[in-house]
Amino acid sequence: RIFKRTFKSALLSALSDKTLAQPHALLFMLRRAINKHQLMPFIQPIVDARTGETVAGEVLMRWHHPALGNISPEYFIPLAEKNGLISRITESGIQSVARTVMSMAFICRPETTLFFNVSAADFKNHAIVNLCKAFKRDTAQRDLRIGLEITEREAVEDTTLVKDLCKSLALLGVDLSVDDFGTGNANYHYLMQFRPRYIKIDKMFTAGVEADPVKEAIVRNIIAVATELHCLTIAEGVETDAQRQKLTTLGVSHFQGYFFSKPVEASVFFHQLMHALPL
Ligand code: C2E
Ligand code: CA
Ligand code: CA
Ligand code: CA
Repeated sequence: RIFKRTFKSALLSALSDKTLAQPHALLFMLRRAINKHQLMPFIQPIVDARTGETVAGEVLMRWHHPALGNISPEYFIPLAEKNGLISRITESGIQSVARTVMSMAFICRPETTLFFNVSAADFKNHAIVNLCKAFKRDTAQRDLRIGLEITEREAVEDTTLVKDLCKSLALLGVDLSVDDFGTGNANYHYLMQFRPRYIKIDKMFTAGVEADPVKEAIVRNIIAVATELHCLTIAEGVETDAQRQKLTTLGVSHFQGYFFSKPVEASVFFHQLMHALPL
């Protein structure tokens, strides 16, 4: 046990050590985990601020290593991004959720949206369009919508290819969402580039919004620009009722956070969706 813990902390510190060119061991294990389908999609409910009903969910990948235990996506996603593996994770997430949907006999509210996180590398070719197409085809009986959350960890360039991809995605009915809005440096630029349907308010602003006038001002501003652009807003990291109330007053349209639910296994999420339906 002690060995295991030391090994894990050595690996994790090697990973965060910027002087190391590459954390080879962890990268090797990550490749293997992807090949062996050991990355598991969890889903966190997103609720309508007015009704409190779950109308969407965000897919978040989990890596349970047999010896090392749970490895956070905050470690392995950036690692995958730097080493050309992220598109394989995107693919495995979308396909895995599709398989879960197909394997379950459930019904859900029409137009329930499933959001997948995508990275800059996912906008380098047409694979993402084909993945969304396949998902829609495979899950056609359920009337699910797909959303893609675009982060700013690595900037998506404004190329003609990206414009083409956005057009194809729009034709497919895929909703775009700007993730972590206000924490990077290309926020307003992303609004122009992607014309998103959703803007996500980062948990950095949610945490303490009820007591901090600066955070309140920032959230007011995000909502003002969202309203003008006809975007919906999702506040993430909502942990308390005080935050929920404050954000409701400020006019946020959707909530996500531990106050409502932690991310749960995909099958559990779909079960809960069905049981929450009015009879
Ligand atoms: P994110 O997209 O900003 O996701 C929100 C993070 O906040 C998730 O962390 C979620 O579990 C956590 N969270 C949700 N509610 C609360 C709350 O009430 N309080 C607090 N303190 N945290 C909350 P997680 O699952 O560890 O994921 C970390 C990041 O890894 C994500 O941040 C996302 O950027 C990335 N990620 C996860 N899965 C994928 C994936 O499949 N593809 C890509 N490209 N990125 C992913
Ligand atoms: Ca996200
Ligand atoms: Ca986020
Ligand atoms: Ca975030």
